[in-house]
Amino acid sequence: MKWVYKLQRFMIGRYGPDELYKFLFKLYISLFIINLFFNFRILNILELLVIFIMFYRFFSKKIYTRRKENDKYLELRSRFLKPFNNLKRNYKDRDYFVYKKCSKCKTTLKLPLPSRRGIQQVKCPKCKHRMKFLCLRQEKVEVIKQNKRK
Ligand SMILES: [Zn+2]
Repeated sequence: MKWVYKLQRFMIGRYGPDELYKFLFKLYISLFIINLFFNFRILNILELLVIFIMFYRFFSKKIYTRRKENDKYLELRSRFLKPFNNLKRNYKDRDYFVYKKCSKCKTTLKLPLPSRRGIQQVKCPKCKHRMKFLCLRQEKVEVIKQNKRK
């Protein structure tokens, strides 16, 4: 158990893993797998570089700087993933809601699906701008219980 204690002592004040670390790890694994098939020299160098950055950040004592790097990474990631998140949300809610952006103030509005297909009118609650939009989906009517006798 002595080495565990030693390791704990060694890790005191060091940065350790974070989201950027996880990303670099995945990057390394991907590079490794790609390299299994192609074996490019440049990929070997990249792999080493990624490993080096990973370990450097993991054992770094400049916690504040590392945290800032991580924040930067998280910001970039959320900016990159934002359109995909919206697509996911739109798909998940496709049976009940439709999302439209106000043409004047750019607010995203969540609207219940209209009862009929076609051109709909909506008033933005924020800027009171009236707009029209085309909706090709309509409210779904669910049958809960059917009457068997006709
Ligand atoms: Zn608006």
